[in-house]
Amino acid sequence: RFITLEGGEGAGKSTQARTLAGALADAGLPVLLTREPGGAPGAEAVRDLLLGRGWDGIAECLLHFAARREHAARMIEPALAAGIWVVCDRFADSTLAYQVHGQGVPRAAFDAIAGAALQGLRPDLTLVLDVPPGLGMARVQARGEVNRYDRLDAGFHERVRDGFAAVLAAEPGRCLRIDASATAPEVAAAILGAVTARLLP
Ligand code: C5P
Repeated sequence: RFITLEGGEGAGKSTQARTLAGALADAGLPVLLTREPGGAPGAEAVRDLLLGRGWDGIAECLLHFAARREHAARMIEPALAAGIWVVCDRFADSTLAYQVHGQGVPRAAFDAIAGAALQGLRPDLTLVLDVPPGLGMARVQARGEVNRYDRLDAGFHERVRDGFAAVLAAEPGRCLRIDASATAPEVAAAILGAVTARLLP
């Protein structure tokens, strides 16, 4: 089973991905916990390129999908083929939200690049951790983490949030909104409930 966690800055994706992977492992299931951009050596090298400088939007979209292809081919697909559950912190929906909705990359360019890179790979369940951007950014600042993206204007983060809302509306069978303004244990319980209801017999 392939589960992705998505959301804007400060939504708590990394913490929740770790907690979910731990809960699945505790239940006796084999689990791979991974993240994007990155998750494989070549993809981590592309992550450094991405975070190290500014890029044209389409170039950035291509880099994200180059990293994602490498991650999929070397880590995600072999794990799924071996019956291992994969929990991934960010996946293709982040590129739709950040590069298409946030940065203005044409949707047709995204669709072409995503189609070529993913070759049909699709999460079984995508949990969209939703927080108002103001709260998310306050959390990011509280943990003293600032990167290139975090400095972008508030409008950018609103557009990213709208992008995730569009994904939720377009694919309700795959995607589920989780209220991530709650406490970490509350969010973890909501996520485990959703995974249990949707993916466990
Ligand atoms: O999730 P994480 O914080 O590790 O992501 C690293 C940075 O890359 C974040 O600031 C995020 O906003 C940015 N990012 C992006 N476009 C994506 C994925 C991540 O701008 N498609």
